[in-house]
Amino acid sequence: MARILILGGTGEARALAAALDENPHIEVVSSLAGRTRDPRVPVGEVRVGGFGGADGLGKWLRANPVDAIVDATHPFAVRIAANAVEVAKRCGIPILVLRRPAWVRRAGDDWHEVADVGEAAQLLPQMRSRVFLTVGRQGVEAFAALSSLWFLIRAIDPPDAAMPARSALLLARGPFTEAAEAALMREHRIDVLVTKNSGGDQTRAKLDAARALGIPVVMVRRPPLPSGVPTVDDVAGALAWIGSRAHVPE
Ligand code: NAP
Repeated sequence: MARILILGGTGEARALAAALDENPHIEVVSSLAGRTRDPRVPVGEVRVGGFGGADGLGKWLRANPVDAIVDATHPFAVRIAANAVEVAKRCGIPILVLRRPAWVRRAGDDWHEVADVGEAAQLLPQMRSRVFLTVGRQGVEAFAALSSLWFLIRAIDPPDAAMPARSALLLARGPFTEAAEAALMREHRIDVLVTKNSGGDQTRAKLDAARALGIPVVMVRRPPLPSGVPTVDDVAGALAWIGSRAHVPE
């Protein structure tokens, strides 16, 4: 029996846990940060909450040994990703990074790529005045001082830090359709969209709607992947890697 730790919080992590659940030679424990009030929970064993940094993760792994780790966290979850690689190397545990592909610019897109939410906030006042902000709850604070702009802020849970003074909060979780995204942008007279390059199909409709409506997009580029670690971009790739590393029948 091989035991795999999946660092999760994404659709890919849930799909991987579900696929591995079918294999009687594999035991999975999925780990969630515990940030979302009503998370979509993977099948199988789940633990919730931070480990307490790299040292805490190391301690957890000594108490709960695993044969391999799959970091299937969100492309912008850089701290847990770095901790996982550091601890896996230190403990000699094979680790794989599973990251969905980034969105790529299509013909007709008007993207303004920036390094982080801070740079997005600096750029906005020179651009437009009615902003559709979809950078996640934790990214909203970077825009709090932009009092001359109006924001439609969409997040799964309410931000717990400061929000821009002129704003409306929409609590919603994807998937969204292009028609609904376009209707929302028209209803609120949105003239610029701000997003992180999360990738995936669940939330890409806003990009299609923005292109169709001629609305520019401020796109926060992804942080670099952990270096020196094997990386795949889909669940099939992760299953193949687990099959080869953990020496288990598929
Ligand atoms: P982060 O900045 O990399 O992580 C901050 C801290 O949260 C980590 O140091 C760790 O605490 C804890 N943590 C994160 N992921 C964890 C996991 N899967 N299991 C246990 N602890 C975890 O990550 P984040 O951007 O706050 O994202 C938190 C979680 O939400 C991630 O699991 C990610 O997959 C998911 N998510 C993030 C985004 C996003 O835009 N960032 C979007 C959708 C989903 P300790 O140091 O105490 O271990």
